[in-house]
Amino acid sequence: MADLQATLDSIYSDILPRIGEGKVADYIPELAKVDPRQFGMAIVTVDGQVFRVGDADIAFSIQSISKVFTLTLALGKVGEGLWKRVGREPSGSAFNSIVQLEHESGIPRNPFINAGAIAVTDVVMAGHAPREAIGELLRFVRYLADDESIAIDDKVARSETQTGYRNVALANFMRAYRNLDHPVDHVLGVYFHQCALAMSCEQLARAGLFLAARGSNPMTGHSVVSPKRARRINALMLTCGHYDGSGDFAYHVGLPGKSGVGGGIFAVAPGIASIAVWSPGLNKVGNSQLGALALEMLAARTGWSVFGD
Ligand code: GLU
Repeated sequence: MADLQATLDSIYSDILPRIGEGKVADYIPELAKVDPRQFGMAIVTVDGQVFRVGDADIAFSIQSISKVFTLTLALGKVGEGLWKRVGREPSGSAFNSIVQLEHESGIPRNPFINAGAIAVTDVVMAGHAPREAIGELLRFVRYLADDESIAIDDKVARSETQTGYRNVALANFMRAYRNLDHPVDHVLGVYFHQCALAMSCEQLARAGLFLAARGSNPMTGHSVVSPKRARRINALMLTCGHYDGSGDFAYHVGLPGKSGVGGGIFAVAPGIASIAVWSPGLNKVGNSQLGALALEMLAARTGWSVFGD
C-alpha cells in the first residue's frame, strides 16, 4: 500500500485539467449553488491507513449515498422482512421514475432508487417520531465514522422539502398501495434530512469502512453487521448503486458503490479499502462525472476491481 498516496496524487493531476466538467444538480436549488470546480478523494484501508487528495476535507451533501446507511439500519430492524417492501433488482429507469412504480404495484425495484429509499426510511421510522428517526440516523452515521462533528445541512433539507414534488408523488403512490405506514409528509421529512447529511470524503470513507471489512470497522472495533450482510449490501451497491448507470459503472470501475446527486460516490474494495470521491459536476444519468472517472483510474492503477486485475 506504500504507493497509494502516489496513486491518488497521479489521479488528481490527471483530473485537474478537466475540473468543472459535468453539470451540478439544479433540481434542488441549494445544490445548484455549489461550485463545480471541486474535487476530493479519500481512501481508508482495512489496516487503518488514510490517504487523501484535493478537497477531501470539505463537507458536501451526500444525498443518495445516505441510502446505504438507512438500508443498513432497516435490515438491522426487520432483517430479511425488508424484501417484502422493496425489491433487489437493478431498475434500468431514472432514479425518480414514477412509471416503474405504477407497473410494479407500489413495490419499488430496489432500495437505492428514490421510491425504494423512501420505503426503507418508512421502515426505519417504526416506533419513532420523525425528529427521533432523524436523530437516530445522525447518531448512527457519527458512530460509524467515529466523528461527532457530522451534521445535517438544514438549508439543503429545507430546499428539497420545498421542491421535491416528484418524491411527494412517489410517496403518495406507495401510500396508496399500502407500502408506506407513516404519513407522507413525515416520511419525506426524514428522507430529505437523511439526504442532506453533509460529510467529507474522509468522513464518508471512514463511515463505510465496515463494508470493506466484513461488517466491522477495524479502526473503531465496532461490529456493525455480519459478514454476510456486508457482502449482500455490497452486492446491491454493485448492481443498483448508480441509477441506470449501474452497468456502466461495473464495467468501467468494477467496485460496489453508491452515488449521490451532490456529486459524491462511495465505493468499496472488499477486504482492502473504502473509498469516497466528490466532484459536483454530474453526467447524464446523475453520477459524478469526474468522480466516476477517478474511480476508474483508481481501479485500473491498483487492480482492485472485484472482477480481477
Ligand atoms: N434527495 C435526492 C432526491 O430524492 C436524492 C437523489 C440522489 O442523490 O439520487 O431527489
